Amino acid sequence: MAKIIEPLRGVHDVLPAQAAAWQHLERITREVFSGYGYEEFRVPIIEQTQLFKRSIGDFTDIVEKEMFSFVDQGDDHITLRPEATAGIVRAVISNGMLRENRLRVWCMGPMFRRERPQAGRYRQFHQIDAEAFGFAGPDIDAEMILLSARLLRRLGLGRLKLLVNSLGTPASRAAYRERLTTYFGAHEAALDEDSKRRLVGNPLRILDSKNPDMQRIVAGAPLLLDFLDPESKAHFDALCAHLKSAGIEYHVEPHLVRGLDYYTRTVFEWTTDALGSQSTVCAGGRYDGLVEQLGGVSTPGIGWAMGQERIVMLLEKQGLGALRDRPQVYVVLAGEHTEIPGFQMAERLRDAWPGLAVQINLGGGSFKTQFRRADKSGALLAVVLGDDEVARGVVSIKDLRRDVAQEECAIDRISERLGVLLGLKGGVAE
Ligand code: ATP
Ligand code: MG
Repeated sequence: MAKIIEPLRGVHDVLPAQAAAWQHLERITREVFSGYGYEEFRVPIIEQTQLFKRSIGDFTDIVEKEMFSFVDQGDDHITLRPEATAGIVRAVISNGMLRENRLRVWCMGPMFRRERPQAGRYRQFHQIDAEAFGFAGPDIDAEMILLSARLLRRLGLGRLKLLVNSLGTPASRAAYRERLTTYFGAHEAALDEDSKRRLVGNPLRILDSKNPDMQRIVAGAPLLLDFLDPESKAHFDALCAHLKSAGIEYHVEPHLVRGLDYYTRTVFEWTTDALGSQSTVCAGGRYDGLVEQLGGVSTPGIGWAMGQERIVMLLEKQGLGALRDRPQVYVVLAGEHTEIPGFQMAERLRDAWPGLAVQINLGGGSFKTQFRRADKSGALLAVVLGDDEVARGVVSIKDLRRDVAQEECAIDRISERLGVLLGLKGGVAE
């Protein structure tokens, strides 16, 4: 036998049994975004490596060690996108979309980071992503958070914890950075290798360390909020007031800096204690300098990203994972001359009821085998065609879930009858 080819490490299959939970998440996502007037934006999965280096920042986990980068046959330096913001900003600039000056978009799809795989942390994972451009005030910060809160609520995940912080402007951050360098410098001997390197390159990154041994030192670090410039402070206070008036509970977390360099002012995360150490399900913030940094006209921006795998894990914990796309009707072909009439009937049913899920028995099998398959499919009803029935122009309908007498129905009335039995609405008249 040929050797089995294993999947790559940290890459997973979404099995058909899990697809319904993903579809549920994607459907609600679309609905919630359209409820706020956001449009879908589909951007490429591969981009020039430079794009991510220039936007995400050199001393971040992503750029230091997580990018899947390669040189292709034409000597182009290419990276599989580790996040969506950089690509959207690139696309907004290269498509001249900032001329209108205002834009609210979302996107959804796979991201790639070469991390150490563990539950809730993969090398190919998926994000739902929201971005807005051209809004300088705290109103959009509030809208972005309200939107994410509504999405989580609609998914039945209303009990997550919201952490917020402000990183101030690049100037106030620079002052803070100096103080941090002094503070961490005094503790240098106790820093791990990553943190030592960041002490020189970007000491704010140390606050984002995943190493539990760093927690104690991080806890004693000076607070960024104490260094905020007055405008950033007013911006942050206005956001907090907005959240209060919307009844959204939040916690100010002064050490929240986020893993990417481009953030300014507002940053936030939604966290849960139900997923072990992978506790953040959604994270985002404002990035007022990024568009200019990538060659566009200076335009404020803000966005967030939600990890779909982590959300699906939460849905599964709530039993919503048991949602499954099951056929409603299974067609049993119990005779030698029933295949063609069976296919014709199934097609007519799908014409009449575009939302109806009809699965037809394929590959023959005894009456008993076919009924076993019908039962396993999860269908509610079996429609049975035998040679004798086809000759008489009728079919039998059997309820697979309840103890109801089997009934016979004229084959040309079957759409109508199933509509009644299944309570279908919105059919297309034959
Ligand atoms: P972490 O600190 O956990 O590494 P991050 O700051 O790198 O997170 P972001 O870049 O903010 O994460 O991504 C937003 C969200 O995407 C995360 O909160 C998480 O839900 C999800 N996410 C990030 N990386 C992964 C991954 N490797 N596998 C699965 N989900 C991920
Ligand atoms: Mg990370």
